[in-house]
Amino acid sequence: CRATRDSQETSPREDESPIHGLSETIVGVLGGGQLGRMLCQAASQMAIKVMVLDPQQNCPASALAYHHMVGSFDDSATVEEFAKRCGVLTVEIEHVDATTLERLEQQGVDCHPKASTIRIIQDKYLQKVHFSQHDIPLPEFMQIDDFEGAKRAGNLFGYPLMIKSKRLAYDGRGNAVAKSEEELSSAIAVLGGFDRGLYVEKWAPFVKELAVIVARGRDNSILCYPVVETIHRENICHIVKSPANVSWKVQRLATDVAYKAVSSLHGAGVFAVELFLTEDDQILLNEVAPRPHNSGHHTIESCYTSQFEQHLRAVVGLPLGDPSMKTSAAIMYNLLGEDEGDRGFFLAQQLIGRALGIPGATIHWYDKPEMRKQRKVGHITIVGPSGADVEKRLDSLLNKERFDSQ
Ligand code: ATP
Ligand code: MG
Ligand code: MG
Repeated sequence: CRATRDSQETSPREDESPIHGLSETIVGVLGGGQLGRMLCQAASQMAIKVMVLDPQQNCPASALAYHHMVGSFDDSATVEEFAKRCGVLTVEIEHVDATTLERLEQQGVDCHPKASTIRIIQDKYLQKVHFSQHDIPLPEFMQIDDFEGAKRAGNLFGYPLMIKSKRLAYDGRGNAVAKSEEELSSAIAVLGGFDRGLYVEKWAPFVKELAVIVARGRDNSILCYPVVETIHRENICHIVKSPANVSWKVQRLATDVAYKAVSSLHGAGVFAVELFLTEDDQILLNEVAPRPHNSGHHTIESCYTSQFEQHLRAVVGLPLGDPSMKTSAAIMYNLLGEDEGDRGFFLAQQLIGRALGIPGATIHWYDKPEMRKQRKVGHITIVGPSGADVEKRLDSLLNKERFDSQ
């Protein structure tokens, strides 16, 4: 009873064989975006059944899921109904109703990661309070409730000042920078004012952004993937390089901070820890995602166990797999909608056409129902014998003239 675009409302058949491959647990995923889609791809290799809950009829995971329940992962009754059909409940997005998950846990529903983890992470301010209580190094931060509070924060932390929404943030939508006190009110207005719940962070003068995917099994075993460098453009992840070109000491410190951060949270699954590296080799935590993450997409081609397979192994209670790299280097390039509608598709397809001719390149197209500017629509991973080599191949992909003349 694989759900197709025409049969999304069909239910898993009662008369099917009870044997479900490596695990008999049906994994329910709140959200059916590209992360849900890639979870389904990994699940199919292991014959694990993944059900997704997503309001969009033709969401990216829909065509590949064992079953797609069309509905809101924010609606309590719908999530409850969905949970009844799954053996374990997990998420591909942290902006879900944590109160419902807490209630379901009390009723015995198996949620991974735990609802308490989702509650902490989905509020970036709460997240910062939590990690500071666990002695994780962070940029200084404080809540702001009114304009006077924002001015006080500016005086204390200086400018530029990073102002962030506490909730519902992604791809930098929810961040605004005030370069001076004069810009405070416009930055706050961009974020929709104080009603949305704001806090500020001291500017982190980073030289690189790093990330570590950390996996925790149901037995609390923890494994860390190699440290990667993430390069953002306009607050959106643009390129990921694995492994990061940093000293062994920095790799060790970044891994230690990531390990410690995830150890302070509860539940199984993979977590992504976003970090800042400062000029004097300090590591500061930016934020944690309680799910597979853009900085781990390269693992599909470059690691023995991809982050998606690892997440499934973790939540169903299989032993964790080897997170180390099986290729020397990988680089991931995000395909973002460069334009709305057909023109956006055309531009992305041009790049994909060129990627088909690049050695070591793998194309991932998320099959999103619509093309919107600056939205992730796919990614390309290039693996190869060295960091310099994969960077060169990416250069040739992005530079049409050079590519054409080769
Ligand atoms: P994501 O898509 O990763 O969830 P987000 O909307 O939660 O993004 P953040 O991770 O908070 O946003 O910030 C986005 C980017 O803004 C960071 O990757 C970093 O480049 C920059 N940034 C965030 N906080 C700071 C800071 N305190 N100082 C300097 N730059 C920052
Ligand atoms: Mg975030
Ligand atoms: Mg982030």
